[in-house]
Amino acid sequence: MPTPVKNVAVLGSTGSIGRSALEVIAASGGELAAYALTAHGNVPLLLEQASRFRPALVVVTNLEAAKSVRQSDLPPGTRLLRGPEGLAQAAAATEVDVVLAAIVGRAGLDGAWAALEAGKTLALANKETLVLAGPLALELARRRGATILPVDSEHSAIFQALQAGRPDEVRRVVLTASGGPFLRHTPEQLAQVNVADALAHPTWKMGRKITVDSATMMNKALEIIEARWLFDLAVDQIEVVIHPQSVVHSLVEYVDGSVLAQLSPPDMKLPIQYALCYPHRRSGVAARLDWKRAWRLEFEPPDPERFPALGLGLEAARAGGTAGAVLNAANEAAVAAFLEGELAFSEIVPACRRVLDRHEYEARPSLERLLEIDRWARQEVTRWVCT
Ligand code: NAD
Ligand code: MG
Repeated sequence: MPTPVKNVAVLGSTGSIGRSALEVIAASGGELAAYALTAHGNVPLLLEQASRFRPALVVVTNLEAAKSVRQSDLPPGTRLLRGPEGLAQAAAATEVDVVLAAIVGRAGLDGAWAALEAGKTLALANKETLVLAGPLALELARRRGATILPVDSEHSAIFQALQAGRPDEVRRVVLTASGGPFLRHTPEQLAQVNVADALAHPTWKMGRKITVDSATMMNKALEIIEARWLFDLAVDQIEVVIHPQSVVHSLVEYVDGSVLAQLSPPDMKLPIQYALCYPHRRSGVAARLDWKRAWRLEFEPPDPERFPALGLGLEAARAGGTAGAVLNAANEAAVAAFLEGELAFSEIVPACRRVLDRHEYEARPSLERLLEIDRWARQEVTRWVCT
């Protein structure tokens, strides 16, 4: 029997994950269809995508950018929506089967939330949603019958490896980290790095924010928190190992000592396809490993002094409550300041440390409270940058 078409809402279709997702959809032989596309500022690319994929809905979330778009710029049959309401409408549309949350940062939470409220399958690339509000997101998913499938490559690997055993048979999970471009840098060298250095990732080609996060290792810190909520793990069950080749995407160790891993070349199209087509696997667009040549995979423990972000991630994962939201917001603001040339690379993590230390912790915050503390943490970073 042919598989019915799955309608996908791609939130953030002009970004790195969004563009890869459209390649996956194009290569799916009709199994996947782009039902809705959304973008913030890159209107020319969004219009190009619309004319190629003929979605039912197109959303321009930035109201200023939306002013330049007319319904007549779109192919017949494609409706134009604007702003945050348009985004929520696209995520919740009855015809949508899977929502791919591929907007970056806290801005990605609203679309993910709308998808969960609507009981959709949520293919989650936007890890910040879980860092900010993991317990509330999972609770909402439970209440609405929504499913969260990881797109982050490490979490996709863990999700796949977890299918080999029962939850109570898992001893620990090991998140792999490439180490980023500054793996062997001394503190003196780290003090000198500029924006171009930080954006030159050795194995992954990604959006700017996550590329800087990979260079500070804050990305791994956020992924520790993401894994803690997504897989309901104790923080002591989560470890990080440096693996510069980015081929082993993460590992699960079972109580008997067996370790299961998922391997593939570093290409986000594979975890995206896995989440969009789940529970099926299909032959797809991602490259394959070549076993006919000699090669090496290396692993080493991370140096916590060189990468203090990891400690912040463990601390925030352990604390729960408001800690994840504070860390996430402080990091977003600090990375934005670094990209603007207002903050040194080596100041990003200390800025986060300071804001985390200064915040008034709450154990069971509401979503409103988390969003309020998110705004407060950003202001704190701005004050730090300006003094
Ligand atoms: P990106 O910067 O390339 O793209 C971001 C997308 O979000 C764009 O389509 C943009 O239009 C949209 N956007 C930005 N600000 C917005 C706003 N305020 N409102 C609405 N839309 C907005 O980012 P990316 O690298 O594709 O990452 C997207 C998400 O996926 C992030 O949460 C990241 O952590 C996660 N992720 C990315 C990768 C990767 O390989 N790029 C891997 C794992 C996880
Ligand atoms: Mg990742």
